[in-house]
Amino acid sequence: MSDTIQFSELGLPADVLTSITELGYEQPSPIQARAIPMLLEGRDILGQAQTGTGKTAAFALPNLAQVDTRSKSIQVLVLTPTRELAVQVAEAYQRYARHLKGFRVLPIYGGQSMQLQLRELKRGVHVVVGTPGRIIDHLGRGTLKLGELKTAVLDEADEMLNMGFLDDVEKILSHLPEKRQIALFSATMPQQIERVAKTYLKNPEHIEIAGSKKRNENIEQSLWVLKNERKREALVQVLEAEEYDASIIFVRTRLAAEELTIHLNARGYRCSALQGDMAQKQRETAINALRKGSLDVLIATDVAARGLDVERISLVINYDIPYDVEAYVHRIGRTGRAGRQGKAVLFATPRERRMQQAIERHLSVKLTKYDLPTRDEVEQRRIAELITDVKKELESKDLERYKKIAESLLEEMDVSGEEVLAAVLRSQRDGRPLLFDAMPTEQFEQREPREPRDSKPIQAVPEGYKRFRLNVGKSHGAQPKNIVGAIANEANMDANHIGRIDLFDYYTLVDLPDGMPKEVEAILKKARVAGRMLELRVWEDRPRSGKPRRDGKRDGRRSDSKGRGRGNDQRPPRRKSQ
Ligand code: AMP
Repeated sequence: MSDTIQFSELGLPADVLTSITELGYEQPSPIQARAIPMLLEGRDILGQAQTGTGKTAAFALPNLAQVDTRSKSIQVLVLTPTRELAVQVAEAYQRYARHLKGFRVLPIYGGQSMQLQLRELKRGVHVVVGTPGRIIDHLGRGTLKLGELKTAVLDEADEMLNMGFLDDVEKILSHLPEKRQIALFSATMPQQIERVAKTYLKNPEHIEIAGSKKRNENIEQSLWVLKNERKREALVQVLEAEEYDASIIFVRTRLAAEELTIHLNARGYRCSALQGDMAQKQRETAINALRKGSLDVLIATDVAARGLDVERISLVINYDIPYDVEAYVHRIGRTGRAGRQGKAVLFATPRERRMQQAIERHLSVKLTKYDLPTRDEVEQRRIAELITDVKKELESKDLERYKKIAESLLEEMDVSGEEVLAAVLRSQRDGRPLLFDAMPTEQFEQREPREPRDSKPIQAVPEGYKRFRLNVGKSHGAQPKNIVGAIANEANMDANHIGRIDLFDYYTLVDLPDGMPKEVEAILKKARVAGRMLELRVWEDRPRSGKPRRDGKRDGRRSDSKGRGRGNDQRPPRRKSQ
């Protein structure tokens, strides 16, 4: 990535810069840094760049700087090989032009109603994005007037060649006014494309983003080709299945970093976002937390992760494919530090295969298909770890206090030692320790969890809803948004169907649609917020009966259904047992 150039230095107008900032773009990608100033100067360019390099913004942003919205004529024409790309590019213009008053862009492709296109063209549009066939159609009918055109863009020219559109493209190019600018983008440069460039472009600037050949021998690299919609779920699967000390997840925008952070926090991961515009102090706090192990996952943009050197990072997930090979090399280089082994997983959508191939070519590696460990494998590994831990404890730790508990357990329960041990192992699955060896006693002297009637008035359960109790509250760091996020995602429930949420110190009450299937209830029992299992159960609005205590008082205030000690709640949430 280019190291120093900022969007504000490229000569783009303020309204376009505002959109970029709002979209969370932190820095121009290499193709943007080079193409934007050239196009603003009016130069023709021949860019060798594939999808995923940010090439759409590389031409759309300078185009928008040149558009005069007071005029009704077409000023920019973009040719694309497919209708999907036409729509995608038109949407990109729309996004970048959200502060350009009166700006209009129209995608035009075969299969879409001609009437609609004619009506829109009549109203006047500034940018037309279309497939060559339909554009030729309109030119033949005289319904597309290019007399005032300033710029033409050929997007994915080699794909247009592969799909047999080159003749149409040339026909269109020959219709353009003499004084115009052309930007031609192609992932590869076959002879025919070079010929078109020679014929129609004037003294073009060649832009090719060079890659690096650096190899990272101690980093195991793999690839998961998946659809965009699948990525979030896949991310959680990888984090669940992989064994790692700390992980860094790379995304493209600040917004993506924020969204994913909320998503993962809602699932109980100790994670934080690292963004380019963070104050230095905040940045250091997050990095130190990762270094010390109070944070396990960082979600970062390329800019933010520059120079990051934390030995604990053993897993890099390229959630959004990087713009170029350099960025990829930099990203995966955050792991495998100090001679350690690291793992890097690349998520790529089918459309991004070119960038993936470019990475493979430049690094001379073939990325192996990512193999998500099975549940069995994960369990086997955890058991092996447990055995190692137990052996270590037996060898080195003073177990006297624990032995006493073990004896009384065995004495009290009328079952075999094996059964008791199994039950103990199972009750430890949340990673909560049995004893607090190093915690000062005052930490345990917290107030008792109070039932709601003691603290604030409770509203009646509305018609069609049922009230549930969740075993997580304010004191655990839960917030309503985490709870909504976890329920909506885990139960696949529209957030609008989640009713009132009342957070108390040690638990939460939430109203959910009555008649929610049992399977969903079961899923929500195990979902996590702030590192704690929700242990969802129906809440009954009456004092809970407790066993009579020896002193005659009633004890109806256990902190949860398993009667875990109060002190347990003091422990910071952990992702998994260690
Ligand atoms: P493209 O290569 O044009 O298909 O762009 C790929 C993706 O990168 C799109 O989702 C863009 O929104 C995003 N993108 C483009 N430029 C930037 C940038 N400078 N910073 C962050 N994201 C970007």
